[in-house]
Amino acid sequence: MSEFDLIDLIRRRAGIERNDVRLGIGDDAALVLPPPGHELAICTDTLVAGVHFPADTAAADIGWKALAVNLSDLAAMGATPAWALLALTLPTADAAFVEAFCTGFGALAAQHRVALIGGDTTSGPLTITVTVHGFVPPEQALRRDGARVGDAVFVTGTLGDAAAALWLRRRSGDPALRAQLDPRLDRPEPRIAAGAALRGAATACIDVSDGLLADLGHIADRSGVGIDIETDALPSSPALLGAFAAADRARLQLAGGDDYELAFTAPAHRAGDLQRDLARIGCGATRIGRVVEGAGVRALDADGAPITLPARGWEHFA
Ligand code: ADP
Ligand code: MG
Repeated sequence: MSEFDLIDLIRRRAGIERNDVRLGIGDDAALVLPPPGHELAICTDTLVAGVHFPADTAAADIGWKALAVNLSDLAAMGATPAWALLALTLPTADAAFVEAFCTGFGALAAQHRVALIGGDTTSGPLTITVTVHGFVPPEQALRRDGARVGDAVFVTGTLGDAAAALWLRRRSGDPALRAQLDPRLDRPEPRIAAGAALRGAATACIDVSDGLLADLGHIADRSGVGIDIETDALPSSPALLGAFAAADRARLQLAGGDDYELAFTAPAHRAGDLQRDLARIGCGATRIGRVVEGAGVRALDADGAPITLPARGWEHFA
């Protein structure tokens, strides 16, 4: 297959049509029409084989995850996704791989009405870079710098399943348990609806990609505050709860990463309303801590004493 056959295959399989795309794949650049009066949220993320996903991950899962991690960043800004670019570096012109990749990418793109409007196709070690664009009403984007002392800290869904799945995969752990946890690692669901619901309600927001402590650390730094986490309050899935002792669970939830839930802050008196609004769109949110004076993030045990962990989250070049 030639580069151009591959591009044609991708064009046919990986996106949906939108009428705000004036010119899609096939010219030197795409032409799009942003909705008047909205801000454009734009972000990009790269997945490298063997670093961001195990080298033997199914192609369809890689396609899903490459888009999911980007949509998760838009969710964390409270943005509604619209357009994507896909830069694909492939070791060989493997049509079967690209076709399966597009099945995963396309399924998530269809779910969130994302049009694939362009990209680049090159040869080299398997690397996928996706860029996404979304819309936010003016001044309503969820940023990292708005947390205030006294705010409560929340997280959507549950934490730790993806890290547990990776841990079990590396050790060829119990297949039945892996079948329950694997989808959280391979097919994360970006919290787009939750992000939109948090506009005007959350004071700061981030998606949990590197690990809860590391990611909340960015909110703490950018907002000039400290954050205390009640480790016992962290939400667990039934599978995680049943399979791991409390200390292991805490380690997976605090430093594991790859959860793609939203961690956010909001005034404590709004907790009830917020949790009701999120429940209405099918997304639980748990209160896990509070914003305090000072700097950095502390995970506290049941007695209020800080827990120390070997690592706080994933870091490249560390
Ligand atoms: P150029 O040489 O001008 O960069 P290319 O030959 O790289 O153009 O790409 C031709 C068209 O195909 C462009 O519209 C580009 O955006 C699109 N394209 C290339 N690779 C991909 C890809 N992996 N996914 C989506 N669109 C792609
Ligand atoms: Mg090109």
